Amino acid sequence: MKITIIGTGYVGLVSGACFADFGNNVLCLDVDARKVEMLKAGSIPIHEPGLDTLVTRNFAAGRIAFTTSYDEAVEHAEVIFLAVGTPPDEDGSADLTHILSAARSIGQRLSRPVVVVDKSTVPVGTADAVSQAIRQELDRRAARIDFAVVSNPEFLKEGAAIEDFMRPDRIIIGSNDEQATKVMRQLYAPFSRNHDKMIEMDVRSAELTKYAANAMLATRISFMNELSNLAEALDADIEAVRMGIGSDPRIGPHFLYSGMGFGGSCFPKDVKALLKTSVDHGRTLHLLKAIETVNEAQKGVLFEKIARHFGGRDELYGKTIALWGLSFKPNTDDMREAPSLVLIHQLLQAGCRIRAYDPVAREEAGRILQATRAECLRSGQLALVASSSEAIEDADVLVLVTEWKEFRAPDFGLLASTLRSKAIFDGRNQYDPEIVRAAGLRYYGIGRRNPW
Ligand code: NAD
Repeated sequence: MKITIIGTGYVGLVSGACFADFGNNVLCLDVDARKVEMLKAGSIPIHEPGLDTLVTRNFAAGRIAFTTSYDEAVEHAEVIFLAVGTPPDEDGSADLTHILSAARSIGQRLSRPVVVVDKSTVPVGTADAVSQAIRQELDRRAARIDFAVVSNPEFLKEGAAIEDFMRPDRIIIGSNDEQATKVMRQLYAPFSRNHDKMIEMDVRSAELTKYAANAMLATRISFMNELSNLAEALDADIEAVRMGIGSDPRIGPHFLYSGMGFGGSCFPKDVKALLKTSVDHGRTLHLLKAIETVNEAQKGVLFEKIARHFGGRDELYGKTIALWGLSFKPNTDDMREAPSLVLIHQLLQAGCRIRAYDPVAREEAGRILQATRAECLRSGQLALVASSSEAIEDADVLVLVTEWKEFRAPDFGLLASTLRSKAIFDGRNQYDPEIVRAAGLRYYGIGRRNPW
């Protein structure tokens, strides 16, 4: 099938590469000319395991190409995917500027029937708005061309995006048009071979499904985070509680981890957007407000522990803190809403020096921090270093921020002899407190029993 993907970010580029790998002819468009140039030159603008190989292979085979030209992109396609960003607006609602601008660009050029697919996460009613935007442009040209807008929300996880896209748990097709549904079924058939993973529904339900899924996942995280704080106060261990409840099939073991609060480009903005939708419709989802509040508080929990370790905030001045991990989760360079940024700001505010290391997000973190903390970078108060061992040089304590594989089994003996204040703050409950303590280090986790 001839497919155009509009927006070559985490979702667009992965979708395009995966469709191409199944033999489709894919043209990816982005308004960011720098991105498109990079892609044409064979370099991948984001870090996503396996994406490099997939894009290179399909580019060489002529199954995927890149452009900034809407003329070319619209002319190319039988199916056009919208995979542009939907960032939060000031009032929390999803900003549809990019989606609607792309829709108008399609309407201005459409010359034959097409299926337009909303893959971006968009509020209920957006397919209608996209349809209207395209229709208005067609009317302006007095063009009578059939098109359908369907909703096909994406559930891939950054860091495992290709696996998720190639072997999805479910494929949601929200469509009010029989012919468009047929086209979508045909397109996704290779991804749904073992059993039928396609779930058909009306457009509005599909739009809501995506928000419902993310809100549910965010709920589990905030629940565990809040419970972890209580566990600590009660001298119970959240890890034991997690295993105890996760074994109940009605609860299940996944996504029950307490930590430093959720970040990333999806959960925070999608919770906000769904909350705003609920308020706008007079059906406020009170639970979501609480989820947000808990999450904001959780991002500060580790800082409080560090301050307490040193005897109060005032004692933090001049201390050197090593950070392992910066991205909002492992296997990605995505720094959007990363809890590390909150911790960094709090530590700098308190006068700490920071030595931070991340296996892949160093450059992206540098770009973001340059915008907000340029002076600290210049003065060396904040250093983004090239290895985990460089991070702990001259440090008082270590904070595990992101659970990258390479941080899983450190040499605790070495850490004990290097860290001046002999303490580890485990923001992801990755380490066995007994082993850490046996090495002569203080261990601080999230919701763990603390005999100190
Ligand atoms: P992204 O920011 O990585 O990429 C968006 C791309 O769209 C950018 O490259 C941008 O230049 C381009 N763009 C913006 N306006 C454009 C226009 N008018 N025409 C062409 N290109 C344009 O975003 P992402 O993380 O890929 O997310 C895209 C959508 O998918 C969002 O709605 C997001 O909520 C949703 N989503 C994301 C994930 C994820 O894990 N990242 C997962 C599921 C769903």
